[in-house]
Amino acid sequence: MKVARKNVVLLGATGSIGANTLRVLRKHQNKLKLIAVTAHSNDQKLADICQEFKVPYATLTDSSAYKRAKAEGRFPSETQLFGGNDALIEISTLEEADIIVLGVVGACGLKPALAAIDMGKEIALANKELLVLGGSFVIDAAKRSGSRLLPTDSEHNAIFQCLEGHCNEDVEKLILTASGGQFRDAPIQKLDSVTPADATQHPNWSMGQKITVDSATMANKGLELFEAHWLFNLEPSRLEVVLHPQSIAHSFVQFVDGSILGQFTPPSMTFAIQHCLLYPHRSASVEPTLDFKQSMQWDFRAPDLARYPCLKLAYESLYTGGNALAIYNASNEIAVERFLNGSINYLDIPRIIDWCLSNDTNSVATSVEALIEIDALTRKLANAFKSSSV
Ligand code: NDP
Ligand code: MG
Repeated sequence: MKVARKNVVLLGATGSIGANTLRVLRKHQNKLKLIAVTAHSNDQKLADICQEFKVPYATLTDSSAYKRAKAEGRFPSETQLFGGNDALIEISTLEEADIIVLGVVGACGLKPALAAIDMGKEIALANKELLVLGGSFVIDAAKRSGSRLLPTDSEHNAIFQCLEGHCNEDVEKLILTASGGQFRDAPIQKLDSVTPADATQHPNWSMGQKITVDSATMANKGLELFEAHWLFNLEPSRLEVVLHPQSIAHSFVQFVDGSILGQFTPPSMTFAIQHCLLYPHRSASVEPTLDFKQSMQWDFRAPDLARYPCLKLAYESLYTGGNALAIYNASNEIAVERFLNGSINYLDIPRIIDWCLSNDTNSVATSVEALIEIDALTRKLANAFKSSSV
């Protein structure tokens, strides 16, 4: 069957999700066409992407990078270049766009994604903050417009694939796998002396800095629990996390009859990204998949919450609900930033999250603007935290 070529908008083209998306696009040029790309300040890398893929529209959200790129004529003449945050919305709502890959980091994807969802466009959802922050607004908007949210995070993509063809009432629980990060076997008492250089090396995945630190603390799994809650509409007691150091089983769905389905590939984001971009069709993968002629070992064990206080705080936030998820996310983001610039130590990350959550008034934001304000207030609070150990 001949399938129409999809027009792809890639937000965050210069990042790790961006690079893996470009690999899928190179492989499937007859099925996918890149029509718009964005970056924050990496103007040269974005210009090279425009050159290679002959991209008609590009955006640099950082205004000095935009001015520099314009002044130096870095972009090919066939690319129309825009600058500033609002341009992310313009690019995500291009009439000819079919699917928006949300590969930016942080809350900057919220408004463009909501605008694209309102227009009924497909969203390949890698950016976690969209659901963590905007959960109910995003899900409601997608229901209204009929926009399809395709989970790109490997765990949610696995669950999405396992759920296809099944009824929600038949699901007992979702089991999210986690590598446990680079300190899963380190003595707990040594965690206080972990350096940013140690925390930004992941044993299995090659990812951006922030998410690599989040993997070590398991705040990443916390954010993924929030995402799973919104995407699959399940209460916290039916969301489980299991450590799986090899990162081959990307998650499981357990049904009421005791059957458990899982999805498995080597640890590379190209598999999940391709699944979303070509959905509902399938095609040859960018990289070779697992080969059962080679012996391999898969291990599973429950996470120790004393080692991963960020995971414990995530469950507590999920039970509290309301603004707690936004507070968890913003406080973690600042905590990671401060850890990376040396102003706090590794174990201050959960301390900051805990401190910000304890200031929560248990209110519920009723608009996206109110959420953004809570996000900003939490960031201020997290920045004011004084480390007793640095
Ligand atoms: P990276 O840090 O590698 O890339 C981030 C991208 O966003 C870059 O293109 C960057 O541009 C752009 N960007 C950064 N800040 C801003 C801003 N303020 N406004 C607009 N654009 C900005 O991140 P990742 O690719 O690792 O992650 C992207 C998202 O996907 C995150 O939410 C992450 O949690 C999620 N995710 C990532 C996975 C992975 O394998 N990496 C797996 C699953 C989910 P520039 O280069 O110019 O700074
Ligand atoms: Mg993940």
